[in-house]
Amino acid sequence: MSRVYNFSAGPAVLPEEVLKEAAEEMMDYRGCGMSVMEMSHRSKVYDQIIKEAEADIRDLMGIPDNYKVLFLQGGASQQFAAVPMNLMKNKKAGYIITGQWAKKAYQEAKIYGEAVELASSADKTFSYIPDVTDLPITDDMDYVYICENNTIYGTKYKKLPNTKGKDLVADVSSCFLSEPVNVNDYAVIYGGVQKNVGPAGMVISIIREDLITDECLPGTPTMLKWKTQADNDSLYNTPPCYTIYICGKVFKWLKAMGGLTEMKKRNEEKAAILYDFLDQSKLFKGTVVKEDRSLMNVPFITGNEELDAKFVAESKAAGLENLKGHRTVGGMRASIYNAMPKAGVEKLVDFMSEFEKKNS
Ligand SMILES: *Cc1c(COP(=O)(O)O)cnc(C)c1O
Repeated sequence: MSRVYNFSAGPAVLPEEVLKEAAEEMMDYRGCGMSVMEMSHRSKVYDQIIKEAEADIRDLMGIPDNYKVLFLQGGASQQFAAVPMNLMKNKKAGYIITGQWAKKAYQEAKIYGEAVELASSADKTFSYIPDVTDLPITDDMDYVYICENNTIYGTKYKKLPNTKGKDLVADVSSCFLSEPVNVNDYAVIYGGVQKNVGPAGMVISIIREDLITDECLPGTPTMLKWKTQADNDSLYNTPPCYTIYICGKVFKWLKAMGGLTEMKKRNEEKAAILYDFLDQSKLFKGTVVKEDRSLMNVPFITGNEELDAKFVAESKAAGLENLKGHRTVGGMRASIYNAMPKAGVEKLVDFMSEFEKKNS
């Protein structure tokens, strides 16, 4: 068996300990004689898996009792519609456009009501986070929406926007569980799990209870009403059983590592190795302004497309996979999520350093 260092933006690297444990339990989950994939989601055994997963993420993030944790299908993109359907009482909300995912959410919200662009960093290819201290938020807005970590462009909010008292909704898909958060600062936090938490096929939505009501927009499908899911503890229909099971293992892995404070420390260390190299390199250049750099997604370029392509090909041959940048930006991108070991980042930087020597 040989494993590569996988810098994919998502689906992405998972902790080896988790994969091994899942492999051991594959044929016979703890004496049940069947795999978790094969068991009823209404069984006692599965009930314990989903309950423990919820308890562990609550513990990790310090989620207050007045927030529900929902395990939902449809990925993060499904929430682009669910958010306005569940929250647009006045049919108006403010969106901050910091990249493609924020823009997609904004465009989806426009189907259901008035989505107002509060700020944008499109003018400089989303290479920074706009000033969010004094936004044109009006009283009739139902919420303010952000994408907290911009997976494609590699920016992250270091300070949350001043929402002027309005509820904050955040897509945290690519920074989920990468550092401690104060859940009380948000009305809704949600993320697709396939970036930093688990296998594809699920979004976790953490929602303040008073926002979970029957008053959704007319025509909201039963499945997209948060109330349906909350009333049934995410078991209204068959949930993504196996994905929940693996996420549960990742939560336990994170707890064993020391929780989110420790993860933040590790993530800062890893990111610094790469950013420090980029800052002194004569060939490679980071594309994001320093103060808004993400700890999770690090885009960089050589300034020469042919050299970029050569780098991607040669790095792959050296066991460093998925370093090609997003198709809309080009260049390279290293996603260095929780499960990427420090040794992987060190190997990448060594490789970049060698590449620079040979090609300049
Ligand atoms: C990947 C990603 C999405 C889309 O996730 P899906 O689960 O594929 O719908 C949305 N937002 C962000 C920030 C992402 O990184």
